[in-house]
Amino acid sequence: FYKMADEVFKAQQATPSDDTIFSKILRKEIPCKFIYEDEQCVAFHDVNPQAPIHFLVIPRKPIRMLSEVDETDKLIKNWCNLVLNCKLPSFQLLGHLMLVANIVAKDLRLEKGYRLVVNNGVHGAQSVYHLHIHILGGRQMNWPPG
Ligand code: IMP
Repeated sequence: FYKMADEVFKAQQATPSDDTIFSKILRKEIPCKFIYEDEQCVAFHDVNPQAPIHFLVIPRKPIRMLSEVDETDKLIKNWCNLVLNCKLPSFQLLGHLMLVANIVAKDLRLEKGYRLVVNNGVHGAQSVYHLHIHILGGRQMNWPPG
């Protein structure tokens, strides 16, 4: 309960910003072992796991949250194409992130199943404003989530 409350508290304090701990991880300013990486995204274990296996898949492109993605991709497309060599528009990147989640889940032998979670905004308990998919597995999940 306390861990949960702590996570929700952090989420409520978080303000959307353009430089996050995940940007620092991507720039290698904070050490982090990637369990998967390609041109578009990376995956790594969550520092505060909520299941026996809990990893994150994040785009290299600094998308702040799911609700900012739409089919026009107008805000960061040009900058990202030049600097980050992002070849996909954000909405296509979303599909890629899910496929990578599945690839890494298979590598980690989550054949009995797993859960994807995207926390969006304050009520979603998002604490890091760099889009990420949580993948949780290795135990029976409950429904509904808290
Ligand atoms: P959110 O609540 O969906 O924004 O999730 C952010 C997640 O990032 C939380 O589960 C944190 O435990 C995790 N996290 C924060 N900092 C780090 C880090 O440096 N390495 C790995 N995971 C992190």
